[in-house]
Amino acid sequence: NISGFRPVIRQLDDAAINRIAAGEVVERPASAVKELVENAIDAGASRISVDIADGGKTLIRVTDDGCGISPEQLPLALSRHATSKIDGSDLLDIHTFGFRGEALPSLGAVGRLTITSRVPGDEAAMIRVAGGRVEPVKPAALRSGTVVELRDLFFATPARLKFMRTDRAEAQAITDTIKRLAMAEPSIGLTLRDVSGGGEGRIVFRADAESGDLFDALHARLARVIGREFAENALRIEAEREGIRLYGYAALPTYSRGAAVSQYLFVNGRPVRDKMLTGALRAAYFDFLSRDRHPAAALFVDCDPTLVDVNVHPAKSEVRFRDPGIARGLIISTLRHALADAGHRASTTVAN
Ligand code: ADP
Ligand code: MG
Repeated sequence: NISGFRPVIRQLDDAAINRIAAGEVVERPASAVKELVENAIDAGASRISVDIADGGKTLIRVTDDGCGISPEQLPLALSRHATSKIDGSDLLDIHTFGFRGEALPSLGAVGRLTITSRVPGDEAAMIRVAGGRVEPVKPAALRSGTVVELRDLFFATPARLKFMRTDRAEAQAITDTIKRLAMAEPSIGLTLRDVSGGGEGRIVFRADAESGDLFDALHARLARVIGREFAENALRIEAEREGIRLYGYAALPTYSRGAAVSQYLFVNGRPVRDKMLTGALRAAYFDFLSRDRHPAAALFVDCDPTLVDVNVHPAKSEVRFRDPGIARGLIISTLRHALADAGHRASTTVAN
């Protein structure tokens, strides 16, 4: 008998709301790294360094030389749904990694977050939040840019803390995230350092895009990230159809590895994991590769932002094309041509 049961509806406080949202935005340390590095990229940084300890569980520190945040704006950066990147009028026209205004308040709700920042011509300042409790802005010392330090991720949500994997596994996921972002932004210098001595130690992606040529910069970056062998065995891809541009590098079938999957896909500069695009890649290699092998490629699909919706999931790694058929068809036909061409060239060389 529930006749005496009268539920009371209450408004949750900000800290609780942010902790709930954090569950979607920050799944593990690598998602925090992704959000913070994307913020640095959005801030126009040309150099970004990431320090982690214990797989990012105890420390993630992202330092950038971007535009900075002014002292009076620091509290806003931590407030929910506050963003400098969109005005909310057109969610189909997004040119930045961020736009939801959720990452910093979410991270501050589940960990201990300190933002130190300086805009040119102003004093440096810092703000702290731990477990959702925001402290007042204080003066700080910093020459320029922004340092965001996240300690003890998920200390405020013990249930989530239990789901963390080993330091090594979390560090590996962070490395993978950094690699994808390094490919997406070949002209930005990116450094990842494991200050606790675990993981891979130190990975440096130097900003070497001085030539200004997109393909040169991308090729150099791919050689560094995926490997020299991939870069030496990759075909340059470039095509355009119905407002969608496809470019990047796809490996010759002879390069492809059995188990190790090297497939990197980007939509409007955003690293994505998308079944439709992966399927198109597989279909393109269908006649060139035995079933137990995976094609290796780094492919960029660029189109008018209004043709693709990135607001599918809080982590923004899923996208939805207005007309998936165009992108799929473009990938399949372009890669098939390139592969057939390369095969043809190889066989005529042998015949000679
Ligand atoms: P979003 O990126 O979706 O706007 P965030 O919570 O990640 O939301 O960040 C909130 C705001 O804080 C951003 O819109 C931006 O103005 C500012 N911000 C965050 N990180 C940086 C940074 N590294 N440099 C400059 N500004 C930043
Ligand atoms: Mg952001």
